[in-house]
Amino acid sequence: MSATCDRRRFLRSLCALPLLPGCERLAQQRLPVSVLYAGMKAGHAIRDGAALPPPQRVIDTGVIILGGGVAGLSCAWQLARGGRRDFMLLAGPEQDGNAAAGSYGELRFPRGAHYLPLPSPESTHVRELLADAGVLQSGVADLRPVFDERCVVHAPAERLLIDGRWQEDLLPHAAPDSEEAREQRRFFDTMARYKAARDSDGRRAFAVPLVLSSTDAEFRALDSMTFADWLARENFRAPGLNWYLDYACRDDYGAGVGTVSAWAGIAYFAGRAGQAANAQAGAVLTWPDGLNPLLRHMHRVGLGADGARRLDGHALQVRERGRGVEALCLDAEGRAFLIRARRAVCAMPLMLAARLLPDLAGLGFDAARDMPQYAPWLVANFLLDGFPAELPGAELAWDNVVYGGRGLGYVVSTHQQLRVARPPQTVFTAYVALSERAPGAVRRWLLTLDAQQLLDEALCDLRTAYAPVALWRHARAAEITVRGHAMATPLPGFLSNPGLQALRAADGRLLFAHSDLSGLSVFEEAAWWGCRAALELLA
Ligand SMILES: Cc1cc2nc3c(=O)[nH]c(=O)nc-3n(C[C@H](O)[C@H](O)[C@H](O)COP(=O)(O)OP(=O)(O)OC[C@H]3O[C@@H](n4cnc5c(N)ncnc54)[C@H](O)[C@@H]3O)c2cc1C
Repeated sequence: MSATCDRRRFLRSLCALPLLPGCERLAQQRLPVSVLYAGMKAGHAIRDGAALPPPQRVIDTGVIILGGGVAGLSCAWQLARGGRRDFMLLAGPEQDGNAAAGSYGELRFPRGAHYLPLPSPESTHVRELLADAGVLQSGVADLRPVFDERCVVHAPAERLLIDGRWQEDLLPHAAPDSEEAREQRRFFDTMARYKAARDSDGRRAFAVPLVLSSTDAEFRALDSMTFADWLARENFRAPGLNWYLDYACRDDYGAGVGTVSAWAGIAYFAGRAGQAANAQAGAVLTWPDGLNPLLRHMHRVGLGADGARRLDGHALQVRERGRGVEALCLDAEGRAFLIRARRAVCAMPLMLAARLLPDLAGLGFDAARDMPQYAPWLVANFLLDGFPAELPGAELAWDNVVYGGRGLGYVVSTHQQLRVARPPQTVFTAYVALSERAPGAVRRWLLTLDAQQLLDEALCDLRTAYAPVALWRHARAAEITVRGHAMATPLPGFLSNPGLQALRAADGRLLFAHSDLSGLSVFEEAAWWGCRAALELLA
C-alpha cells in the first residue's frame, strides 16, 4: 500500500463524518466515546528504548510468569492445581490481554475474545479447565460431555444480512441444484474427510492444539500455499462459499484467504471436532463478557482469591542472571522494581519478548526471520437503551454478520439471558479486522484517527444493518479498543517456523507460553502453552 493510497483513505475517512445527514452526525458526535489503546503506551516506550530506571525494591519468588493473558493465567491455574505456591504473575499492561472485558454498570461486555468452540477430545487441557470452572458438567473424557446450557449459544445463534434480507446461518443460502450449492457440499465433504483423517501413528491430520496434529508430508504440504491458492487449485470458485471462507479466516486469523496458510484455513473446519451430549454439532460457548469468566476463574484458582500472587506492572528487561532470572519491571505509578526468580515463563507476545530478552537469538529465535505478522483489530462496544428496530420479520441473533461487509459483524452481550421480556439495556460488540492493507500501514493510519473517526470505522456493519435513526435513538455510549498488534496471522510456512519450534522446546530457566508459539491465536492454543509450561515446572 503506497503512502498516497494511505493518505487518500485517511482523507476519505475525514470526509465520512461531514457526509452523514445532519441529525445523524449530531447524534454520533454527541455520543460519549472512550478509546483504549491496548498495551500501546508501554509497548511503544519499550520499542523506543526508554531508559531503564534503577529498581526501588526487590521481590524474590520461585517462578515469575510474565504476562496475564490466557497463556499466563493457564500457567498459574495449572501450577496451583499441581500444588505449587512459590510463584507470582506479572499482569503486564493489559490484565487478561485479548480476553479482557469491560462493563457499563451491571452490563459486562468483551474487549476481545468472545467464543470457544466445544473442545475436541484431544483438548484435554481445555476440558479440564471447563470442568474445574463448572462449565463442563460431566463426562470430561467422553466424546460428548455435558455442558452448562447457560453457556451454550442458544438459537438464533447466527444470521447473515444478504441481498437486503437476514438469513439464518453465515453460509450464504443457495438453490439446491445450483453450482454454488454443489460447491458448498463438495467443500464441506472435503472438510469432513480431513476431519476424520489420521496418519499411520493415529494422529489426527488437524488437531487442537495444533502441535498434536499429524506431521505427515501430505498434510504439511498444505502449509506451502495460501488458502486462496488451494481453493483455486481445488476449483472452489463459488462466490458465496469464497466470501464465507474469507470471512472465517478474517474472523479467526485477522487476515483473509489470500494471506493465510491453506493448512490454517482447513484447520478452521477440520480441527474443531468437539461435541456435546446436550448441544448441536458446531455449537460454541459464550458469556456476556466473552471468554473473560474463564480468566476470572483461572485468576481465582491460580493467583488466590485475594490475588496475592498477582503483581501489577510490566517488564522492561528480562535476563538470565546467576542461577536464575531477573526481570526489571515498572508499576503503574512509574516506580521500577526487580523480580528475582529461579525460573520465568515468558507469557507475553513475542514482539515484546524480542525486545525485553537480549538473548532470544541464543535460544534459537531470530526476530528478523521468525517474528509472526501481527494483525490490527478494532473492538467497539455500544451501550444501547432498548434494541433498535429490526427489518420486518427478522430476529436478532447472537452473532450478526453483513455479507460483503468490511467488519466481522457484531455480537449481543445479553443474548444468553433467558427472560420473557428483553432487558432494558444491552451492549452490541462490533469486530473489525483491518486486513485490507499491510498491517504496518494500518497501524500508522490508526494513530492518525481521533475518537469520532475510529467510531466511524467501527460502525461499518451496524450502519448497514440498521437505519441510522434507529441506531442513534438507542445508542448511549461507545468504547473502542484499538489492538494494533492483536494476533499472529498464520502465513504459509508458519508450521515450520524454526524460531517458534525452538521456543516451544525451551526447558531451561526461561520457558515460553503464548498463543504466538502456535503461530495463530485462539484460546485453546494459548491455554495449551500455559499449561505445558506449568507441567514442565511441576516435573
Ligand atoms: C479482537 C479479538 C477477538 C478474539 N476472539 C477470540 C475468540 O472469540 N475466541 C478465541 O478462542 N480467541 C479469540 N481471540 C484470540 C485471543 O488472542 C486468544 O484467545 C487469547 O486471548 C490469547 O492469549 P495469550 O495469552 O496468548 O495472549 P495475550 O492476550 O496477547 O496476552 C498477553 C499478555 O502479556 C502481557 N504483556 C504484554 N507486555 C508485557 C510486558 N512488557 N511485561 C509483562 N507482561 C506483558 C499483556 O498485559 C497480556 O496480559 C481474539 C483475539 C482478538 C484480538
